[in-house]
Amino acid sequence: MTPYAIALHGGAGVKPGRDYSRAEAQLRRLAGDGAEALKRGVSALDAVETAVRALEAEGLCVAGRGSAPNTAGYVELDASIMDGAAMRAGAVAAVRDVVHPITAARRVMDASGHVLLAGAGAMDFIETQGLARVEDPASYYRIPDGVEPADFDDPKAAAHGTVGAVALDRQGRLAAATSTGGTFGKHAGRVGDTPLIGPGTWADSNVAISATGVGEAFILAGGAGDMAARMRYGGADVNAAADAMLADVARRGGDGGVIAVTRSGEVVFAWNSPGMKRAAAGAAIPVFAAVV
Ligand code: ASP
Repeated sequence: MTPYAIALHGGAGVKPGRDYSRAEAQLRRLAGDGAEALKRGVSALDAVETAVRALEAEGLCVAGRGSAPNTAGYVELDASIMDGAAMRAGAVAAVRDVVHPITAARRVMDASGHVLLAGAGAMDFIETQGLARVEDPASYYRIPDGVEPADFDDPKAAAHGTVGAVALDRQGRLAAATSTGGTFGKHAGRVGDTPLIGPGTWADSNVAISATGVGEAFILAGGAGDMAARMRYGGADVNAAADAMLADVARRGGDGGVIAVTRSGEVVFAWNSPGMKRAAAGAAIPVFAAVV
């Protein structure tokens, strides 16, 4: 059987006793839909973009519609996407009021000649691409159900949300995508790991990875790119690579998790935060979703 698989996350860190059933049901449905699409021959790249767009639109996680304002009172969004077969990537950082940051990242990859566009210049580029914009931020953004305001003194409590997808298609191509409104209480202009190719998102011919957690610690630890390197020239298997990288994140004072899919269709979830919203499905993987 030709392997194919998709895995999704809705962010690291869940609070005991909180009801995540809507987010879990959404992740389960999207994993099933994504696997069906891959079975029909949709590319890994299109599958991860489609899944992340749905997560951005729903607002049940801290990305797209579910994003929370920074300390200056407005939402800034980060997203990135990587095509591991072609070794191409695109990303946007600190952009405002674009409905689908992940599609902005894809356009950066496909149409800008660059990998990462940030701030005002990224907004100018988004304008030229005719992407859907948020007309009324005050009514569009909503803090996800059950999410409380951050404890600004606790960097671990500040990480909450982010969405991501990784996929292997039937042609053996791997892709990864990640999108976030960032951490609660972040400074205006703060950029985390999510839009950084390496720390937040990585795909090559071996593995596709999307990270979530305290972005500062993932940047310092190398995140998804470090995990892929441990596999590529360190000889580690995917589980050992994830555990070693997350141990390094912990040493940098953070926590979080990763989702990964390998070229053989193995899906891995690893986290050192209290839970991670996640789901997967594939040729040999029955649809699965869990939170803790
Ligand atoms: N990693 C994201 C950031 O630091 C936050 C998250 O994953 O929840 O912006």
